[in-house]
Amino acid sequence: MSFAATILTLYPEMFPGPLGTSLAGRALAEGKWVCDPIQIRDFATDKHRSVDDTPAGGGAGMVMRADVLARAVDHALEKRPDAPLLAMTPRGRPLTQARVRELAAGPGVTILCGRFEGIDERLFEARPIEPVSIGDYILSGGEMAALVTLDACIRLLPGVMGAASSGDEESFESGLLEYPHYTRPPEWEGRTIPEVLRSGDHAKIEAWRKTMAENDTRLRRPDLWERHEGARDQSPSGARRQKKER
Ligand code: SAM
Repeated sequence: MSFAATILTLYPEMFPGPLGTSLAGRALAEGKWVCDPIQIRDFATDKHRSVDDTPAGGGAGMVMRADVLARAVDHALEKRPDAPLLAMTPRGRPLTQARVRELAAGPGVTILCGRFEGIDERLFEARPIEPVSIGDYILSGGEMAALVTLDACIRLLPGVMGAASSGDEESFESGLLEYPHYTRPPEWEGRTIPEVLRSGDHAKIEAWRKTMAENDTRLRRPDLWERHEGARDQSPSGARRQKKER
């Protein structure tokens, strides 16, 4: 069965957008996933098809109305009752590769895209919505965040990346950044490829890659490194390691 991407948005024309090209585009053409953008304005009831109103308590901007969004969400839930329902918001839990893997293994995902100042908070209380952020910065709308989330899921669908690359070795899969890559020419602007990568010694290459992944993670992403080390210390082998070190 195809992975169903249902997107609730004020800009349905943004989908599939860039996901209509390259790997995701081919997968879409092959029916490995389906893209179903839904116009939120279709669930408004006034003649202006309003979806927003001024913020309670005052302040700049407009807020998306809970009643209109609830009708759109209920429609999507009825259409795809098994798909998790995500709302893109900077106030959500940061998206991780682990969550992406879970989503990609399921029947699909329904994504609500915010605009303006965001979504009336009561919607999150009244519907089974998972608030998701794609990072600590502000976009002008949830559509780009939805495209990012979908791209991350689609590449993991069976057959999309091909048998040669499962994505298992990539950054974040083991809690670390991936090791650096090199390709031909062997010398470029006076810089050479590390000797070990040309040695043909697979054990040595693997050890070098592991060291590089650890060093780069420690230097570039101390937050990831700390979590990785914490998880290692909690594992049965980590506990043994601590005992031995004492
Ligand atoms: N006033 C909101 C705040 O400060 O948290 C920002 C609203 S933003 C201009 C409009 C919409 O863009 C949000 O409702 C959300 O759907 C989307 N958005 C912006 N940044 C995002 C992020 N980092 N992750 C996920 N969605 C984001």
